[in-house]
Amino acid sequence: MDLNTVEEVSAPTSRAELWPLGDGDAILAGGTWLFSEPQSDIRRLVDVTALGWTPVTLGDNGIEFAATCSIAEVARLSETLLDSHPDWAAAPLLRQCCTALLASQKIWSTATIGGNICLAFPAGSMISLASALDGAVTIWRADGDVDRIPIAQFVTGSAQTVLSTGDVVRSVHLSASALRARTAFRKIAPSPLGRSAAVLIARRDAEADGGRCVLSVTAATVRPYVFEFPGVPDADAIAAAHATIPDDAWTEDAHGDPDWRRGVTLVLARQVCAELSCT
Ligand SMILES: Cc1cc2nc3c(=O)[nH]c(=O)nc-3n(C[C@H](O)[C@H](O)[C@H](O)COP(=O)(O)OP(=O)(O)OC[C@H]3O[C@@H](n4cnc5c(N)ncnc54)[C@H](O)[C@@H]3O)c2cc1C
Repeated sequence: MDLNTVEEVSAPTSRAELWPLGDGDAILAGGTWLFSEPQSDIRRLVDVTALGWTPVTLGDNGIEFAATCSIAEVARLSETLLDSHPDWAAAPLLRQCCTALLASQKIWSTATIGGNICLAFPAGSMISLASALDGAVTIWRADGDVDRIPIAQFVTGSAQTVLSTGDVVRSVHLSASALRARTAFRKIAPSPLGRSAAVLIARRDAEADGGRCVLSVTAATVRPYVFEFPGVPDADAIAAAHATIPDDAWTEDAHGDPDWRRGVTLVLARQVCAELSCT
């Protein structure tokens, strides 16, 4: 849709050119959300795709995704990592999370991991991915500082993050130890291709990485809830963790009532943990 309040579009090519950013300015990444509804407060778009960030950097410590990396590029890694990093057993999870985004092929190719995370919708599938794999978000603060914040702290509520005016998300990091883990994934939505109502991911680290189990709850809740256990939790431990999620944290929208989400979350949590208890 035309954004008829926008008076200027700038496309900085270096970090120094990004600022100043103030009220009325919006970072433009893929634009799949920005151009999908009226944005009456926006006067200027600042296109970060001209900064030329390398989309994916693979290293010994994991994967660094530039904020501008497309969802399609994230998904493609599920195949290429099988050859380049056969010990990263979590590779299939990348594509699984991308498919949890209700989107056409066109959206997949254009939408970015940074845009998805900055929107901070409960159904943000890149938030699900990062929550399960110890994801951390690097922020270029408007005052020049650089912060690196775990995803579960970056998202503070539905469409709420720790970002302040003028802050820019630079990248998202997934740790190598999490990538070496086995994972189990469940998504439920009111319709087969519908927006996610609950996404449950369990991760079991390799023994050499400590053997712990991580259970991530997203979409069902307004922000990610991530639980750690010394090993695969039993039914009582799962129920105890589930009971700590506050009543007002269950997402309420057209894609599912809070009570239903609470119920299916417990069922799916048991399923993903049971899947990982098999050797
Ligand atoms: C058909 C359709 C289906 C969709 N389904 C889903 C869904 O299931 N789940 C979901 O979460 N979303 C969904 N969306 C919303 C959106 O398309 C995705 O969240 C997408 O990943 C956003 O990425 P983008 O790069 O297009 O962001 P943009 O539209 O460019 O930006 C989104 C927001 O993030 C800010 N932003 C972007 N990059 C940065 C950055 N680097 N630093 C700081 N701020 C930044 C922008 O200013 C803007 O406020 C859907 C959209 C459509 C049109």
